[in-house]
Amino acid sequence: MPANKLIVLGSVNADHVVQVNAFPRPGETITGHGYQVLPGGKGANQAVAAARFGADIGFIACLGSDDFGTRMEQAFREDGMDTRAVMAVPDMPTGIAFIQIAANGENSIVISAEANACLTPAMLEPHLNYLRQAQTLLMQLESPMETVELAAFEARKAGVAVILNPAPARPLSDALLAALTMITPNETEAEMLTGIKVTDAASACTAAHKLRDKGVQSVLITLGAQGAYYSGPEGERLIPGFRVQATDTTAAGDTFNGAFAAALQEGLDVDAAIRMAHAAAAISVTRLGAQTSIPYRAEIDTFLQ
Ligand code: ATP
Repeated sequence: MPANKLIVLGSVNADHVVQVNAFPRPGETITGHGYQVLPGGKGANQAVAAARFGADIGFIACLGSDDFGTRMEQAFREDGMDTRAVMAVPDMPTGIAFIQIAANGENSIVISAEANACLTPAMLEPHLNYLRQAQTLLMQLESPMETVELAAFEARKAGVAVILNPAPARPLSDALLAALTMITPNETEAEMLTGIKVTDAASACTAAHKLRDKGVQSVLITLGAQGAYYSGPEGERLIPGFRVQATDTTAAGDTFNGAFAAALQEGLDVDAAIRMAHAAAAISVTRLGAQTSIPYRAEIDTFLQ
């Protein structure tokens, strides 16, 4: 089987979502409503966004040997993903996120890695050859850091472009930063990585320079409704997003990253790829949920007409 051009390595979570009027205080029991179990996990969300964009994509992930894991693997295949490196771990549940959504729209999330923690360097080892034949590798930080580092170093050595979406925010080693072709933090993650409070194009520019000084070739900082700031060898600029009525921004960043990597892979230049990614993310914020909100290519093309 030929290797896929784009490989996403990352997490799979079952999002257990419940609506509450307000969050419970410590020791308090409250009643919620509208309980749903929805497919999530940053790795899976980004892989789904890239697959629905139309990319030739493979996913490297660990999920549980439970019903949810089985259903997810099936769903990935239906979205056109190559799942040869999606591993079901015996006697482990799929990763879990407990999400409370308050009436004012705020959310509070507890994540338990479960099977995602099993994506160790030893589990990745048999798939390194597959990874080395890709053109682009896209990762996030819901997987063990040693695995993210191993994948980045091996990919880089083999000439594979490495894109890291550093979410959720965690400190990164200088060696990992130097192995990245591109890093795509949001405002909070950019601040955590650089110590610079990022709120607009000017502060994003300063933070991007700090990251490029550490050896990352290009930096793309997403700025929510303001768009995204790009800084790379060919120049730097703010690329505004699209104005839409946002109802739920869950997975906006994931949709952006998956669509962006897929668009670059397709041969679009950075500006055109960011425009496509903005369109995909803008559609996703008008819909509820994580993977349920991620658009297909035809919807993105229609949005851009
Ligand atoms: P999340 O954590 O909610 O998934 P994030 O914080 O990682 O998202 P953001 O910077 O908020 O990422 O948004 C990513 C992209 O999503 C933006 O660059 C933009 O294209 C799109 N986006 C986010 N919010 C809006 C909005 N309110 N209106 C239009 N587009 C949006």
